Amino acid sequence: MSPATVFERIGALRSWLEAHRVAGRRIGLVPTMGYLHAGHASLIRRARQECDIVVVSVFVNPTQFGPGEDYDRYPRDLEHDQALCEAEGADAIFAPPVVEMYPTGAPCTRVTVARVSEGLCGRSRPHHFAGVATVVTKLLNIVQPHRAYFGEKDYQQLAVIRTMVADLNLPVDIVGCPTVRESDGLAMSSRNSYLSPELRARAPAIYRALCAGRDAAQAGERSAGAIAARVKAALEPVPDAAVEYVEVVDAESLAPLQEVGGGAVIAVAVRLGGTRLIDNIAIKPVP
Ligand code: AMP
Repeated sequence: MSPATVFERIGALRSWLEAHRVAGRRIGLVPTMGYLHAGHASLIRRARQECDIVVVSVFVNPTQFGPGEDYDRYPRDLEHDQALCEAEGADAIFAPPVVEMYPTGAPCTRVTVARVSEGLCGRSRPHHFAGVATVVTKLLNIVQPHRAYFGEKDYQQLAVIRTMVADLNLPVDIVGCPTVRESDGLAMSSRNSYLSPELRARAPAIYRALCAGRDAAQAGERSAGAIAARVKAALEPVPDAAVEYVEVVDAESLAPLQEVGGGAVIAVAVRLGGTRLIDNIAIKPVP
């Protein structure tokens, strides 16, 4: 376990990174909103394997939250995050105050990624992905990493970032990492801490429902509507679960599908009590 330097200022982080860049070291960035768990740890570990210098950013980005969403109560614990980063061998933590990232308040310049941002979560969170794309662009410009690591747990976010990096020719490799789950199947998320014990006990139904949809596809069901209906039927009996969407989409463009055949993903958003949870599962292409 080695100490990770915490940077709050862009200038100080850039000077520190410059020395490593000049020495020819490969830099990896893991952007997070903190309250780190084993899912984040898997991204840091992968970066540690592939890069010489690993920077973890911890920033609860206000511009990706809508009015009435959980920005104020989003869990924060930098001491815990630092311990996890050090246990995973990260070299630096970039934890800027909001004013460091947005010195003039809301920025005049925003990055919007059309089409891929618009369906799924984009429907109920219309400005969310512009907030994400803007802050990730800023983080990529600040750190200038060779590689940046994102989780497949937030599948649409990963697709938005990949599209943005390709469209803008940003000089970084985007690495997608598999979803880390609790032993009962629930996808790890900082927001799981909002769940009461009763709701937490019901939450694995989301993954079980996704598995039912995937299994139907593997058993030969080609109709996207029928696969989605299987997932919805599995979620219906769960008390206090309100399905926001269940969709079967193309794995790359995220366009809604009528039929599965190529790579596809089943994506869901469910409100359990007051907590909005998202998850997804891949459907393998038909050979
Ligand atoms: P967040 O702090 O929730 O914004 O997540 C930061 C990064 O960690 C994002 O790229 C997420 O997709 C990724 N991540 C969050 N939860 C998981 C998980 N359970 N497994 C893998 N990656 C995750």
